[in-house]
This record gives sequence, C-alpha cells and structure tokens, in this order.
Amino acid sequence: MNAIVRFFKSLFLLELFRGMGVTGRYMFGRKFTVQYPEERAPLSPRFRGLHALRRYPNGEERCIACKLCEVICPALAITIESAQRDDGTRRTTRYEIDLAKCIFCGFCEESCPVDSIVETNIYEYHGEKRGDLLMTKEKLLAVGDEYEQQIAADREADARYR
Ligand code: SF4
Ligand code: SF4
Repeated sequence: MNAIVRFFKSLFLLELFRGMGVTGRYMFGRKFTVQYPEERAPLSPRFRGLHALRRYPNGEERCIACKLCEVICPALAITIESAQRDDGTRRTTRYEIDLAKCIFCGFCEESCPVDSIVETNIYEYHGEKRGDLLMTKEKLLAVGDEYEQQIAADREADARYR
C-alpha cells in the first residue's frame, strides 16, 4: 500500500509542490534575515563579546588583583600576576585573557567584586597571527576606555532586568 502511495506521490510531484508551497509562503512572509553589515540584529545588554577592563571616573583601574576571575575561569584563559604599589594597594602587573581558550561563559564578570572585567557587545574582531587573540592588560584597558559609555549603559539596562 505504501509503495502505491509513494508511486502516485512521485508521479504527480506532490513533494515538489509541497516544497514550493513552503518557499512561496516564506517569500511573501516577514523576513528573519538581515543584510549584514548594513543592517544589524538587536543585541541584548547581556551579550557576551570582547572583554574589557574598566576604570573609575578618576582614571584609577578598578581591578584589585583579587584573582577571583582567574580562579573561576573554567577554560583557564585568564593569567594574573600582581604586586603591591607604594601606596599599599594591590594591582595587577600582568592580566591576560587568551581568547582562543575563552568560551565566553561570563563567569569572570559575574565573579568580579568591583565590576572591573566585563564582556562588551563587541563581536567584530579577529586575529590573523599567533598572539592577536591574546588580550593583554593594555589592550583590555584600551577597550574599556574606548567603550566605557556603552559598557555603563549596558550594565544599567541589565540591572533593570534583574
Ligand atoms: S568568559 Fe568564561 S571562559 Fe572566558 S575568560 Fe571569562 S570566565 Fe574564562
Ligand atoms: S578583574 Fe575583578 S575578579 Fe579579576 S582580579 Fe580584578 S578585581 Fe578580581
């Protein structure tokens, strides 16, 4: 019986017409695709993209070298070395994130007690040679300095959701 049904289905090209029906429905329906890069899909304020280290408004680094982010990172992507400064405070002398290891889980920013390490909504970056995806402290601070306004706005919006 099944063989007969299959025979008539293929004889009258029923599957083909059904497929064309689906195509036609989507052709005139609402489009889900965007013309990237001219058009962008909306991003959540909680989107986890490129990392940044933030400063306080007076220019002081937020990071106090507590190493919580390094300990919690499941991918072992963060490396921190620290030293005491002349004023008795502790700061990192080395802070690196290897983006080739990072799985963008967001644990580092969740663990940070001073809102220092954050993940921005930047997703357009790439590396062309070995080391390009190793984010040093200088690179992370530079991202933080450049995008501080956006980072602060995203964190404020995120706080409203919670
Ligand atoms: S996002 Fe996750 S994997 Fe990436 S550095 Fe932070 S804790 Fe590690
Ligand atoms: S970024 Fe935050 S969690 Fe990581 S060492 Fe600095 S203060 Fe601690």
